[in-house]
Amino acid sequence: MVIVGITGGIGSGKTTIAKYMSTFGIPLYIADEEAKALMNRSKVIKRKLIQLFGEEAYKNEELNRPYLAKKIFTDKSLLSQMNAIVHPKVASHFKRWLKKQNAPYVLKEAAIIFENNLQDNYDYIITVIADEELRRKRIMSRDNTNKEKIDAIIKNQWVDAKKIQLSDFVITNNDLEKAKEEAIKIHKQLLKITSK
Ligand code: ATP
Repeated sequence: MVIVGITGGIGSGKTTIAKYMSTFGIPLYIADEEAKALMNRSKVIKRKLIQLFGEEAYKNEELNRPYLAKKIFTDKSLLSQMNAIVHPKVASHFKRWLKKQNAPYVLKEAAIIFENNLQDNYDYIITVIADEELRRKRIMSRDNTNKEKIDAIIKNQWVDAKKIQLSDFVITNNDLEKAKEEAIKIHKQLLKITSK
């Protein structure tokens, strides 16, 4: 099965574009959403996260996101420890999911691919880019967040120019209609490539 990764900086619109491409009948795996679901569902993850963060990691059986976010924000090492617990579980869940798909290719959306040197897990990579000012505005209106938090996330992600160099396809999502047209073109190219 051909695995196409779709990535991009915060607020670039990678989820919006990935969901749009899934309407062409392409199976879509959103790594972040699956990770969140597994953090609530998997007993092993739950036990390990409680060991790492304490009982407060869960509230009414649900992951206590604000508490975890606060902890991680003040102690960066907690993020890598949490990732070491969650990422392998997501990877095996993705493998099982992949086996069930029947399509010319599948899309896997992940915020971080290049930053963790994970590009070899993909056959092709699409990077969604957008002007930083637009990205900031989108995040501000979508999330209850502040400039400081967005700055910290952007600082942790690679700049677009670096990602573009390593990508097979790039979609510019300053204007949604134009981005959708680019997505259709890429989808057609991928169909051609995968039918060979
Ligand atoms: P994150 O990294 O935070 O998950 P993302 O790259 O997946 O973000 P989306 O969630 O798709 O981005 O988009 C962020 C917000 O911007 C959403 O509210 C979405 O509806 C909006 N958005 C996406 N693309 C556009 C666009 N071209 N014009 C205006 N708003 C957009």
